[in-house]
Amino acid sequence: MKDTFTHKGMRKKLVEVLKEKGISNTEVLKAINTIPRHLFMDSGFVDHAYVDKAFPIGADQTISQPYTVAKQTELLNVRAGNKILEIGTGSGYQTAVLLEIGAKVYSIERQNELFKKTKLFLPKLGYRPKKLIFGDGYIGLKTEAPFDGIVVTAGAPFVPNPLLAQLKVGAKLVIPVGGDVQIMTVFTRTSATEFDKEEFGEFRFVPLLEDKN
Ligand code: SAH
Repeated sequence: MKDTFTHKGMRKKLVEVLKEKGISNTEVLKAINTIPRHLFMDSGFVDHAYVDKAFPIGADQTISQPYTVAKQTELLNVRAGNKILEIGTGSGYQTAVLLEIGAKVYSIERQNELFKKTKLFLPKLGYRPKKLIFGDGYIGLKTEAPFDGIVVTAGAPFVPNPLLAQLKVGAKLVIPVGGDVQIMTVFTRTSATEFDKEEFGEFRFVPLLEDKN
């Protein structure tokens, strides 16, 4: 598992691309500059690691596009020490970004193959989430709620109520909502019963599926 000067150089360029696309949160940019994204992909595809594109990671899933990861993390408004729930662990790249920022991360994945692979892989890079869960993201993680933020990294056909219910007051749910194309939507809990809703344009994710396999 090598991280060379070439990789580091390519990462710097990726960070510049993300800045040009409007990402300004320095913590997020620093995390992307630090994390060896090529190691989250199969070794045959390292050339694709530092272009701003999503990429297949097996089990019909993808590692999200760097811009998308950056944008979602920026919208989440995460700070060191925050307790964050991620839905859709996948390759673990988004998990690593949250950990670099100093969050305590809980992440749920419904594909057992990916769950097992990523659980073994992240500690090899020194990334230690609080908990990786093989389960259904639609129900969130009641036993650890409430959270300082929840990020959904798959396209949700509707907004699952349990996720809204598991936010602290002041916390945000960042969730792409829709079918083939999704609208990046941010809900901020403003009181025990009230939520603000904001929208941030179109994105394309693999779908948030029901029933684990
Ligand atoms: N955060 C990931 C993105 C992975 S793509 C990364 O950085 O690589 C979305 C992931 O959501 C896939 O791994 C998929 O298996 C998972 N997923 C789909 N439906 C889910 C559900 N109901 N609960 C939890 N995970 C789900």
